[in-house]
Amino acid sequence: MSTAPKIETVSVHAGLRTDPSTGAVAQPIHLSTTFERRPDGSLPDEYLYIREGNPNRRALETAVAALEGGGAAACFASGLASIDAVLRALPAASRVVAPRDIYHGTRVLLTEHHPSLQVRFVELSDLDAARRALAEPAALVLVETPSNPQLHITDIAGVVAAARRVGARVLVDNTWSTPVLQRPLELGADLVVHSSTKYFGGHSDVQGGVVVASHELTAETAVTDRQGLFGRIRAVQEQAGAAPAPFDCWLIRRGLQTLPCRMRAHEEGAAEVARALAEHPGVLKVLWPGLPSHPGHEVMKAQASGFGAMLSIRVRGGFDDASAVVGRCRLFKRATSLGGVESLIEHRAAIEGPETPTPPDLLRLSIGLEHPDDLVDDLLQALTG
Ligand code: PLP
Repeated sequence: MSTAPKIETVSVHAGLRTDPSTGAVAQPIHLSTTFERRPDGSLPDEYLYIREGNPNRRALETAVAALEGGGAAACFASGLASIDAVLRALPAASRVVAPRDIYHGTRVLLTEHHPSLQVRFVELSDLDAARRALAEPAALVLVETPSNPQLHITDIAGVVAAARRVGARVLVDNTWSTPVLQRPLELGADLVVHSSTKYFGGHSDVQGGVVVASHELTAETAVTDRQGLFGRIRAVQEQAGAAPAPFDCWLIRRGLQTLPCRMRAHEEGAAEVARALAEHPGVLKVLWPGLPSHPGHEVMKAQASGFGAMLSIRVRGGFDDASAVVGRCRLFKRATSLGGVESLIEHRAAIEGPETPTPPDLLRLSIGLEHPDDLVDDLLQALTG
């Protein structure tokens, strides 16, 4: 009896094949912006013009759709471009429910770039609050779990059930967990987005984003509302043109091949760092859902196979003390972003500005692939001062 291939196998092979003309095992990078027609006007393959499609983008879209257990995917030039495409695809004046704690850039996108949308920010990790917000119709619920940067955990299936009752679609930003740890489409979500700039690329050297839809876009299903939404997202990709370059697609597709191994190693490091800091007198709180004391521990344990490698700490003192800890780090890089091989530390309130809901004493850590002992040593010396 044949079984479905496991995620490690999908990561290595989905969307790729040996190049028939050369036998190359690694996919060639196709830089051509245009594709020649045959004398009769037909095209030899599915490609016409780069904005509409390219073999490297197609390989990446096929792979991400397979990894998320989805039917189709559309890649964009950044994570925010992919979220922007979903918002553009909504009917004008749509009501959107979004988490209170959410990636700062997504909040700016929602509040400053889509004035026709009616956005309501809600504490989605509180399922009763989510249900109350969904007592009236909405077009979309945006879920980010764990949330950035406070690591609130939202019950995806619970929000899906509440959304269904009012006909709202559910979009999950799965950047922090990746499909290795969490597969929102299996929990009923309609769409998943990623910033591929993070764990998918994995090496802090490429920017990208992707939207995955639960069902394939076919002529038969395109008439349903769900497929209508993904069809509009695909149209935004092709007609507004925030599409990724072939080399970027190639790099991200290559990054995916090691994603399952990297995620496990990242998470092991995060667990060691979280446990070491949880006991430190200079740390008020460690926000990592893998700790049994985290309020979202049980929900995440039930809906994901791991807790990820992003964590935040609240430093005793306040804004200045948190800044000073960052300044004393020697191994952690003082840089924004996440998901690369090198560990990063960032004082989020300092970069999000005075209006931010992020606590002033919060430091966000992206645990890379260095030895956890070295990371713990660096943080301990930085906290000691
Ligand atoms: N979603 C999450 C959860 C993020 O953390 C980020 C960036 O940090 C983004 C989306 C935006 O991605 P990009 O920087 O690729 O536009």
